[in-house]
Amino acid sequence: MTKRVVLIGHPVAHSLSGAMQQAAFDDQGVDATYELWDRAPIALPDAVTELRGDDFLGANVTIPHKERMVPLVDRLTEEAHATGAVNTITKEGKRLIGHNTDVPGFRFALDKLVGKQKMPRQAVVLGAGGGARAVVYGLITEGFQRIIVFNRHLHRAEGLVKHFGRSASHMELRAMPWHDSIIESELARTKLLVNATSIGLTTDESPIPAEALHGDLLVLDLIYAKTRLLREAAAAGATVADGELMLLHQGAAAFALWTGQPAPLDLMQQKLAEARAGGLRSTEGEPTGVAADTAEAVGEEPDASVDSAVAAASAE
Ligand code: NDP
Repeated sequence: MTKRVVLIGHPVAHSLSGAMQQAAFDDQGVDATYELWDRAPIALPDAVTELRGDDFLGANVTIPHKERMVPLVDRLTEEAHATGAVNTITKEGKRLIGHNTDVPGFRFALDKLVGKQKMPRQAVVLGAGGGARAVVYGLITEGFQRIIVFNRHLHRAEGLVKHFGRSASHMELRAMPWHDSIIESELARTKLLVNATSIGLTTDESPIPAEALHGDLLVLDLIYAKTRLLREAAAAGATVADGELMLLHQGAAAFALWTGQPAPLDLMQQKLAEARAGGLRSTEGEPTGVAADTAEAVGEEPDASVDSAVAAASAE
């Protein structure tokens, strides 16, 4: 029987996951289809019931359902429990297991960005949504000692800090109000900056002023594009990377969980690049309205490879 894997989101039409997962199934001889399910929040419980059927191998979960999925599955992995977000579901019989593969995806991207340098111990994170939760948990478990979270709506950053209260009890995790001057002074004493907001996804804007950036920074933007932030950071001499590796490796981890086989990374990366060249840049389901001409306007390289995601934009 052909198995089914679905991406549940709302909307999902712009997701990049479909391009890489179907190609990976086909390449590895896995008899499965990857379908996009646009389900409004009210339809989520029914979608989860359907997933329990024998024909389903599992699912991916995206905006706006990652947090809502937590109480709907039967068991959570440590990473899903800690982040309070599920982006991948596997099956044990009819039981649903919730995973968060954004966390290993982020860790892989961070390791590649840091390279041979010493892993920093202080970070500034912009954003407090689902992506930021995976980032903050990845940093805590990596041994960071000070993480400052800035978010447009401060209460959401405070909620994130509270959520990680226990796992961050040994270190300093703080929410701060979004003021350019405060961000600039925090960045002056920080080595790592992660953008986990969606600023720069649909417009050529940067979340912070270029003057706040300096040459000692490592800058990771979760957005899968050479955003204005990355271009300005590279111009300041910083080492930069976009969201490609995180996206690729969260998808590869999900593929391995569903199939028990290692993912064909090169092929998946190639499919992502093709989708990006076609104008897609959102890792999630946001209605981007971003077409190839906009991508061109911000100077994207459609043929960027894994290494070039880090190296080409680096001004080292
Ligand atoms: P959420 O919707 O959960 O969070 C969005 C975040 O962006 C919030 O912190 C929000 O602030 C902030 N934000 C949005 N618009 C503005 C604005 N105009 N001004 C200031 N802040 C703004 O999304 P996710 O956390 O899931 O995703 C965030 C980004 O990370 C997206 O671009 C997504 O594509 C990317 N991502 C990439 C991944 C990858 O694998 N590369 C994985 C996961 C995410 P507020 O709370 O104040 O509204």
